[in-house]
Amino acid sequence: METIKLYQQDVYMKECTAKVISVESDLVLLDRTVFFPVGGGQSCDLGTVAGYEVTEVFEEGDKVYHRIREPFQLEAGQQAECSIDWARRFDNMQRHCGEHILSGIFFREFGGVNRGFHMGDDYMTIDISLEEDPSITEITWEMAKHAELCTNEVIWSNAPVTVRRFKTREEAEKMPLRKKLAIDEEISIVCVGDINNAADCVACCGTHPSTAGQVGLVKLYKVEKNKGMFRIYFEAGKRALLDYDKKHDLLTVLGNRYSASADDLLEKMDARKEKDKAIKNELTVLRQSVIESRVSDIRKDLKAADGEVLIYEFGDMKTDDLLNIGRPVMQEVKKLLLIISTNDNTLLLFSDGTVNCGKLVKENASIYNGKGGGNATSARAIFPKREGLDTYIQLLINHLR
Ligand SMILES: [Zn+2]
Repeated sequence: METIKLYQQDVYMKECTAKVISVESDLVLLDRTVFFPVGGGQSCDLGTVAGYEVTEVFEEGDKVYHRIREPFQLEAGQQAECSIDWARRFDNMQRHCGEHILSGIFFREFGGVNRGFHMGDDYMTIDISLEEDPSITEITWEMAKHAELCTNEVIWSNAPVTVRRFKTREEAEKMPLRKKLAIDEEISIVCVGDINNAADCVACCGTHPSTAGQVGLVKLYKVEKNKGMFRIYFEAGKRALLDYDKKHDLLTVLGNRYSASADDLLEKMDARKEKDKAIKNELTVLRQSVIESRVSDIRKDLKAADGEVLIYEFGDMKTDDLLNIGRPVMQEVKKLLLIISTNDNTLLLFSDGTVNCGKLVKENASIYNGKGGGNATSARAIFPKREGLDTYIQLLINHLR
């Protein structure tokens, strides 16, 4: 027994009462349904049958099956109230119809044929193949924006969206189709606008709003080359509005951050970047001068030293900068020079070679959970706690006394 497809009679029907024909495992067959099954690039409706959650709807032959989340209690012969998730359906209808109009416009304006469609969570894509007009070999962003405007003009005109059903291919082919038919009988042809000047006319079994205006908005995001075709990223309906909201909010935050409007935001961001660059350069010069001054201080201390271990600690520089302080004076060290980075409990060891720095780290640092290594004249050790570092230094002093 064929399922009566109420969604084909009235796409706005959200509920119905149906008779259960059969229940097999988790699949329920009804005599009639408002649930659109997956197909034609459109996902299926979800909702409830007799209050039980519908997780999947698909068509097999002329029957529509509803997969119900178990456990549930339904028996053949009983009446069941069916209800679809209308927000989900309308979202599908807006997006799907938006894709129709955009595809129709790419065909009309540039002879581009839609050869692929994907409906993702964040955007939709169509793959446009330029095959009808040899003089057009690419889709530039300007061309895409022209198609976007034409598409929205069709939406603003609130053109009617009609579905005509034909028994045979011969009858259906009399329509101004943008794409060759893939089936031979029981063909649904969807038209946006008057058939004598349709914005789109193509075979489709999906669900569509009755007028183009209900699509609301179509926004193109980008165009990219893909396998000899042009992939158009876009969104339609409420999702396009929500995306506009998100991007507008982001622009507002950026505008506040840079005390700018959308008109001068880029200019102000560039100016800030230049300023940052100047500050960075200034910092490099200052850092170099601090390093040189510290090298000179340590050099003086080294000259005056009498074989004792010299220790310095700094909390205002990165380890790499501290290396630049120790290296120039390495050959002047009489026993051992220690530089501590208090930021990350790193110890740098320098020596003229009379003491083997790498060996000192390798053999003893691990006792205080220190990690590191190096060679005879320079080495480093990192400690998880300052305590361990201090104890290790005390050990070195005692050892070298
Ligand atoms: Zn369709």
